[in-house]
Amino acid sequence: MRILKLIPTVKDYIWGGTRLSKEFDMPAYGDRQAEAWVLSCHDDGVNIISGGPFDGRTLKDVLSNEGKSYLGTNCAKFDFFPILIKLIDAKDNLSIQVHPSDEYALKNENQYGKTEAWYIIDCDEGAEIIYGLSKDMTKDELKESIENGTILDNVNHVKVKKGDLFFIPSGTIHAICKGILLAEVQQNSNVTYRVYDYGRLQNGKPRELHTKKAVDVINLKAVDCGGKNPGKPETFDGYTKTHLSKCELFTVAKLEITEKATVTADETSFVSLIALDGNGVVNYADNCITLYKGESVFIPAGFGDVEILGAVTVLETRV
Ligand code: ZN
Repeated sequence: MRILKLIPTVKDYIWGGTRLSKEFDMPAYGDRQAEAWVLSCHDDGVNIISGGPFDGRTLKDVLSNEGKSYLGTNCAKFDFFPILIKLIDAKDNLSIQVHPSDEYALKNENQYGKTEAWYIIDCDEGAEIIYGLSKDMTKDELKESIENGTILDNVNHVKVKKGDLFFIPSGTIHAICKGILLAEVQQNSNVTYRVYDYGRLQNGKPRELHTKKAVDVINLKAVDCGGKNPGKPETFDGYTKTHLSKCELFTVAKLEITEKATVTADETSFVSLIALDGNGVVNYADNCITLYKGESVFIPAGFGDVEILGAVTVLETRV
């Protein structure tokens, strides 16, 4: 069994900034880096393994060879690798969008649907997200509002701050707006139905909208702001741990390590570690692997204890 260091896949969508390359040392292929897929088996951006005996192979390939035990017993019920983790730098507004449920997506897109969680790493003063409808609507009212460009008047605009956590169930209309840098833990899916794109052009043309499918899947009930303060930090020797999100799909925590922390990968799930700030190293047996800001490490289920040393803030995700 091996701990895997993953090379992120970077996307240059039109709304991206440059913080991912400048601050997180992500590869910069163009002049902007909107998303870095830091844990991905998705064909639209699968991770490559860096170093060790699997160097240069894809995560997907290695996991299919090593078998389901690498993923853990909680993953047995999934046909595909269940999650996808991204760092997102929204210099500009993302389109207003929705993701379908598993039921709809498996039927219509041959992919999972997408429930997601956002952890706000950093944001500008006054930055906001769009989260859910602000009033109950019928399908016809929703369709009309999308078509006549008034959808912005019918959604919740929610101010965010550093350290906030938002849980976005599939079917919730949403958008990340400008000035937000966040980590997104989501189901392994790339199905997005876009309903409003601020009249922007890409290569001289507006990006496609998917109004019909969006109206099929958007939750028509008004929702309260999904803003959720993360749990209370628990203090341990050498680090604090804050629970961020727990659902039947994933469990996410933040480890703020000042000296060291022990992380255990038991038989139930692999553990994904992503360094959000600072630099550390992961020690195990007689090996050592870096965990510098922006780096992503995959620990197979059943691996046992690893020690993280350094001053580093880590996003820890399990299934
Ligand atoms: Zn989304």
